[in-house]
Amino acid sequence: MTAPALSLRHLKVDFVTRRGTLHAIDDISLDIDGGEILGVVGESGAGKTVTGLAVIGLIDPPGRVSGGTIHLGGQRIDDLSPDEMRNVRGGRIGMIFQDPLTSLDPLYRIGDQLVETIRTHTRLSPADARRRAIALLTEVGIPAAERLIDGYPHEFSGGMRQRVVIALALCAGPELIIADEPTTALDVSVQAQIIALLKRLAREHGTAVMLVTHDIGVIAEIADRVAVMYAGRLAEVGPVREVVQQPLHPYTRGLMGAIPTLEGNTARLVQIAGTMPRLAAIPAGCAFHPRCPFAFDRCRQERPESMTIAGRTVACHLYDGHAAAESGA
Ligand code: SF4
Repeated sequence: MTAPALSLRHLKVDFVTRRGTLHAIDDISLDIDGGEILGVVGESGAGKTVTGLAVIGLIDPPGRVSGGTIHLGGQRIDDLSPDEMRNVRGGRIGMIFQDPLTSLDPLYRIGDQLVETIRTHTRLSPADARRRAIALLTEVGIPAAERLIDGYPHEFSGGMRQRVVIALALCAGPELIIADEPTTALDVSVQAQIIALLKRLAREHGTAVMLVTHDIGVIAEIADRVAVMYAGRLAEVGPVREVVQQPLHPYTRGLMGAIPTLEGNTARLVQIAGTMPRLAAIPAGCAFHPRCPFAFDRCRQERPESMTIAGRTVACHLYDGHAAAESGA
């Protein structure tokens, strides 16, 4: 059996502050296979972006990975030196951020940026690297790539710039792409094109994608599986269609905009009441309990562990009996 493209086990990220240690990521385990798109969703402050930054080794002090492991294609990478990690980034892991100008230097022609990245991570000659850059630009839908390769970032529209960033992420044939809100800054019609492009590229190249977004609509459109995060923990993980159509965790139900009433009907919610707790004020027990319509005494005292139910994982005391029954306990 081949190793997953990305494997996180009991990952923890802490921020050490004068007022104590804050747990931004608290014991997260998940896998992404080659060619698979995992959507990581949750409100602002849930820890989605920090998870992506931990994988690429870019947690800035006072933050640090304080526990657990990160494996890329079976190789442990959380203990690599900064130099080794620099090679992994842009080589084995490609990155796409919300603002294309984070990744593109406005002073350099896009072709020069692509060729430099290709040559940093491959042994191609300058001429071959330029040919590869043109092929990549063509593949991501830049028209007349032979001509536009010599343009500057400001000469491209937002959608075209994001296509260039995707080409940049693909330069070295990465095993994993981390895409953090890649479509949030774009017009709706362009968003759909970029989503379709990412999906096609993941399939054709066999690249694993970790898609970080607050937008469950984007996840439903593109992802194979979804991981729902809340207050630095995983609330639920499962195949996207099942999680969207039949969410198990009360927070996921709220995210999907429908929550069952006691009568078995569904009431539309504009949003879940309350807000995500600040890192310094994560409640004891289940972090979601102050907002959860199903909370009971145990939820206020005991943190729910992730349990497996019908191929999904969910961290909620409501399912304790179900998981036990499934495992034959
Ligand atoms: Fe709600 Fe309790 Fe489940 Fe947390 S553990 S989601 S508070 S029912």
